[in-house]
Amino acid sequence: MVPKSKIDAILDGYDPEEITIATLCSHSSLQIFHGARKLGFKTLGLTITHSTKYYDAFPLGKPDEIIKYKDFDDMESRVDELYDRNVIIIPHGSFVEYMGSERFGDYPVPSYGNREVLNWESSREKQREWIEGAGVSMPEIITDPKSIDRPVMVKYNGAKGGKGYFIAMDYNGFKLAVDPDESYNIQEYCMGTRYYMHFFYDPLKHDGYKCAEGGSLELMSMDRRDESNIDELYKLGNIDDLKKVGMYPSFVVTGNTPVVLRESLLPKAFDMAERVVDKSYELFGGMWGPFCLETVVNDKLQFKAFEISTRIVAGTNPFISGSPYADLIYPGMSTGARMAMHIKEAAKEGKLKEIVS
Ligand code: AMP
Repeated sequence: MVPKSKIDAILDGYDPEEITIATLCSHSSLQIFHGARKLGFKTLGLTITHSTKYYDAFPLGKPDEIIKYKDFDDMESRVDELYDRNVIIIPHGSFVEYMGSERFGDYPVPSYGNREVLNWESSREKQREWIEGAGVSMPEIITDPKSIDRPVMVKYNGAKGGKGYFIAMDYNGFKLAVDPDESYNIQEYCMGTRYYMHFFYDPLKHDGYKCAEGGSLELMSMDRRDESNIDELYKLGNIDDLKKVGMYPSFVVTGNTPVVLRESLLPKAFDMAERVVDKSYELFGGMWGPFCLETVVNDKLQFKAFEISTRIVAGTNPFISGSPYADLIYPGMSTGARMAMHIKEAAKEGKLKEIVS
C-alpha cells in the first residue's frame, strides 16, 4: 500500500486550482467525466485495451484527453505524466478489478477515497467481519455441503460479479455442479427482491443525516442489476429440466434498471448504511465517498446485505441527471458530479488530504 505520507507529498506539489480528474475508460467513466466537467475540472481518460471510440458518440461524457498505455506496467511507469497534470484518480469497480486490488493499492497516484478499504472489501471473510460486526445481517454461511437444507448460492473464491456462481437445492445438486479443484463459499440463497443502494458519505459536511463521526450520509440513487441469464430463465420453465440440456443459471451483469424502495423501508436502509460507515472508522480509518449496499428484502420486510462495493458502482449510471433521491438533496446531480463537488470543495478549503489517499 502506498504510504499516505507519499500521497500527501505529491498533493503538496499540486496546484489545487488546476486539478485533473482521471479514471479508466470503462464502467462509469462517462458519468465521472460528465460530472467532473460540470464542476469545471479537466478530465483525462486512461486506457489499455478498451476502445474509446464510443466517447465520440457522447461529447458531454468524453474526456478532454486520453492516454493509451500498453499495459498496467506501462501505466505504473508513467506516473510523472499524471503528476504534471495534477491528477486525482477516481477509482471505479472495473479499475480496481482489472488492475488488481493489491496493485491498485500500490499505485502511487492520488486517489479519491480511502485505500485502506481495499483490504476489507477484497476478502469475503473481512467483508463479513466488517458488515456483520456493524450489526447488519448477511446471508448465512453453510460450512458443510452435506448440511445443505435449503436453496444455496455457491460462490467460488476467485469468482466475481456473479460469474462462476451456481445454485444448489441440496447436497446432490451441489455434488453434481461443484468443481472440486476450486475453493468455494456456500451461502443461503436469499429469496426476495434486490435493491442496490447507492449511498454517499461526506465527512466534511456536517448537516443532513449525521453519522457518529459527524459527517453526512446521503442516498443518491438505487438500481437493480440485470443479470444474464437468471433474470430471463423462468421463461423456459423448470431449472432442472434446463440443466438436462446444459443450460445453467448465471448471474453475469449486463445492465442496470432504476428502482426506488418502499418509503417505509428507508429508515432501515439508512440504519444499515450508518452502521457500516461507523464501523469503517472503527476498523480502518473510515470509508467516504460513494458506496453501495447490495441487499435483498424478503416478504417479512427484512434486509440481508450480500455485498458491499466501496466506490462508485455502475448501477449509478441511469442517474446522470439526478434521481428521485438525489433530486431531494442536489437536484439533477449524479454520483459522478457529487464526487467532483467533494473534491472541489475540499480543494477550496485546503482539505484534499482528508479525502484523497
Ligand atoms: P455478488 O458478486 O455477491 O454481487 O453477487 C452477484 C449476484 O448474485 C447478485 O447481484 C445477486 O443477484 C446474486 N446473489 C449473490 N448472493 C446471493 C444470495 N446470497 N442470495 C441470492 N442471490 C444472491
